[in-house]
Amino acid sequence: RAKDNGGNSFQFYTPVMHDAALKRLQLEYQLRRAIELDELTLHYQPQVDLRHGTIVGMEALIRWNHPQMGLITPGSFIGMAEETGLILPIGIWVLRTACLQAKKWQDMGHDNLRIAVNLSARQFVQTDLTETIADILQQTGLPPHCLEIELTESSVMADIERHLLILHAIKALGVHLSVDDFGTGHSSLAYLKRFPIDTLKIDRSFVRDIALHQDDASIVATIIALGHNLHLQVIAEGVETENQMAVLRAQGCDQMQGYYFSKPLPAEQIEALFLDQQITV
Ligand code: C2E
Ligand code: MG
Ligand code: MG
Ligand code: MG
Repeated sequence: RAKDNGGNSFQFYTPVMHDAALKRLQLEYQLRRAIELDELTLHYQPQVDLRHGTIVGMEALIRWNHPQMGLITPGSFIGMAEETGLILPIGIWVLRTACLQAKKWQDMGHDNLRIAVNLSARQFVQTDLTETIADILQQTGLPPHCLEIELTESSVMADIERHLLILHAIKALGVHLSVDDFGTGHSSLAYLKRFPIDTLKIDRSFVRDIALHQDDASIVATIIALGHNLHLQVIAEGVETENQMAVLRAQGCDQMQGYYFSKPLPAEQIEALFLDQQITV
């Protein structure tokens, strides 16, 4: 019925829309309770240093173990979490869980293993973000330089003045900062010299065709040169094939992450992977 409604008429009260709105409300209600019900979980994806052939870090990626729908990836609920503010308690849970896990792995002998955690722009307007991070580091015992906070250009970098002080305060704790999905945002390159960042993560859209298209290979080579000239580490994300890995290696990319090495995995499976040295470099 709703389909035949041409023109500009509002369709808010069609059965279909009503149903979708209800589902959304229900999902929001369920997400609100997901932390206390212990339904949120982190998967970890290795970050590999090709020069030494070792896993140097892990990126923590959230999943929601929904009682009816099964494992839900962040694309389906992070947006809602940001709009409702639920990202604040969720973000704190992610930080604490990731730091605890990294400390556990360090205690198992993986010294200096780094843990990368994604932060939404919304988490930056929290006045106590810096204290929260400092508390979590203190409580978990993770050395600050082993925590890397991933920010995106489109969120945090878009509002430079507002975030500059906070980023400097976080940086002053000794925590590392990286720019996620680098190359996809619309902000100016000027922020690179104004922000206290350590790492650029090349977006996987550039990595995908790197072995097929000279254009993509040139863009990636340029990002790597830019990063190195600014004394930043460069990580490529979304590395899926040996060819992509070979081109990135030849271009001097410092670290890589992607299905070629490992998919994001639950902590127990990461431990098996550590033991087997299954990563092929
Ligand atoms: P991201 O931070 O850019 O994370 C990389 C995404 O690419 C992850 O998707 C990962 O599973 C996927 N990926 C990794 N290697 C490959 C590969 O070789 N090929 C392909 N096709 N994909 C690959 P995921 O886990 O679905 O996360 C999506 C986004 O959700 C993340 O993008 C990040 O922006 C956001 N996110 C994840 N966890 C959190 C969190 O704890 N807090 C916040 N605020 N955002 C999060
Ligand atoms: Mg990320
Ligand atoms: Mg990314
Ligand atoms: Mg992304």
